[in-house]
Amino acid sequence: MRGASAVTIKRPAEIESMRAAGAVLADILDVLRAEIRPGVSTADLDRIAARMITEAGAVSSFLGYGANPPFPGVICASINDEVVHGIPSSRRRLADGDIVSIDIGCILDGWHGDCARTWPVGRVPRDLSELIDATRRGMEAGIAAAVAGNRLGDVGHAIESVAHQHGYGIVRPFVGHGIGRAMHEDPQVPNYGRPGTGMLIEEGMCFAIEPMFNLGGDEVYVADDGWTVRTADGATSAHFENTIAVTAGGPELLTAGR
Ligand code: MG
Repeated sequence: MRGASAVTIKRPAEIESMRAAGAVLADILDVLRAEIRPGVSTADLDRIAARMITEAGAVSSFLGYGANPPFPGVICASINDEVVHGIPSSRRRLADGDIVSIDIGCILDGWHGDCARTWPVGRVPRDLSELIDATRRGMEAGIAAAVAGNRLGDVGHAIESVAHQHGYGIVRPFVGHGIGRAMHEDPQVPNYGRPGTGMLIEEGMCFAIEPMFNLGGDEVYVADDGWTVRTADGATSAHFENTIAVTAGGPELLTAGR
């Protein structure tokens, strides 16, 4: 059983290594974003990402992850009511009016980065572009609260407050996390919380902060493929994630780019 003592503090040189991993991901997201259009399959996007990870001398954090069954892609591609962990497929083609969340992680020289963006495909209804925008702002609010001296409840509360302003559902079973030599380190970083509660945040901690907001209710379920998380009510969901380091100067983004 891992306790709070398993939370690792990274030295500046280690954060520098994580910055390099994050830069690989930011470059890939820039390329993928330009590929988002009707007719493109999520397997097409996965192939591009896999090639770029290899070319960067990195290794996918996702490929082969877990055992339910092992995840078969280097990206998660989650469309519309799919929240996270969608499996890339040549049969899943983006259509005009969809929104798609792309999540990607890699290991470079032993250090992980993890990030996600949600993009519109072609023209989307205004309620969907607002959902995307609010989820990004939820992530940004959570990051802004990830300063030394604050507590994890401050981060969760900042995220949750943005969702509540819009009446969006918040996904609770899936949360942000510590990150470093492992993709998922302690602590868990919930997207909800009470101010002033939870673990004290210290300089040198690194977190993946990743809200998932739903246009409908909070509830989600895992589909029969063992991976894809979907909203219970079929409503559309968005997901943003960045890996950050807590520094003396405040939270530093290690996976920049949109
Ligand atoms: Mg993550």
